[in-house]
Amino acid sequence: MKIIRSPQAMTAWSEGLRREGVTIGLVPTMGALHDGHRALIRAARLRCDALVVSIFVNPTQFSPQEDLTKYPRPITKDRALCRAEGADVCFEPTASVMYPEGFQTVVMVPAIARRWEGESRPHHFAGVATVVTKLLGIVRPHHVVFGQKDYQQAAVVRHLIADLNLGVTFDVRATIREHDGLAMSSRNVYLSTEERRIAPTFYQALQAGRQAIAGGATDAVSVQEVMRKVIGGEPTIQIDYLAICDSTTLEPLATIGREAVVLGAIRIGSVRLIDNVVVRRPAR
Ligand code: AMP
Repeated sequence: MKIIRSPQAMTAWSEGLRREGVTIGLVPTMGALHDGHRALIRAARLRCDALVVSIFVNPTQFSPQEDLTKYPRPITKDRALCRAEGADVCFEPTASVMYPEGFQTVVMVPAIARRWEGESRPHHFAGVATVVTKLLGIVRPHHVVFGQKDYQQAAVVRHLIADLNLGVTFDVRATIREHDGLAMSSRNVYLSTEERRIAPTFYQALQAGRQAIAGGATDAVSVQEVMRKVIGGEPTIQIDYLAICDSTTLEPLATIGREAVVLGAIRIGSVRLIDNVVVRRPAR
């Protein structure tokens, strides 16, 4: 497995393979890789001839009060996981080569980015959209893989690829969870033992919402109440948002139809977690 740090070298590697008709897959990550990332890497590996995993803790998607400096960076372990999963390249640019002096372009997908994570983290999706556009320009993959865990992020990227005709196919893979339902996340390491014990309550609440909808509930307010009651059982959890939304536009629904996504963000102590479930009701 090659480790490439320079964007120019990365593009040269990809262009060489593209000329030979080799298909290239890209899995963009911020490192601290876990089994959720591993599932994306495996999916891309199966679909493409050559595989690039990018590891870049993108400063522009963090807000000043967030955890950029303490974000975990176990690079040796990450490379070992990439190697074990058959990656051909780990692309590890530095912030200064990605954002050199004078950098000024910002990519925005305003409607889809406005609510939910966009409200809690105002510049987050502009940071994500800009770095993903750059990574696609540098790596020039045929195919990219994202995780459903970051549902709104995947929706932003889907739009960006379509709106800008970026000519790359896109795949969203299911969320990988711990045995007790907690969605795997690089940020789970911040949870204390006690916080980790109560964290699965979040997924239990989403599941309760899903069950209520599957059981026939159509009123979003009553489904919200069901979910809030589950979380209310753990007073140390603060709800940032719990929203029942159209699965494409991410606009909130008053009445739930055949398909919806339940998006949530909570805080346990200083740790903020996001998760979601997609609900599809069978046709009658
Ligand atoms: P991150 O390193 O957190 O930026 O995530 C990189 C990619 O991995 C994103 O597309 C995430 O949605 C995806 N991802 C993160 N956690 C999980 C998980 N538990 N299951 C599946 N994909 C995930």
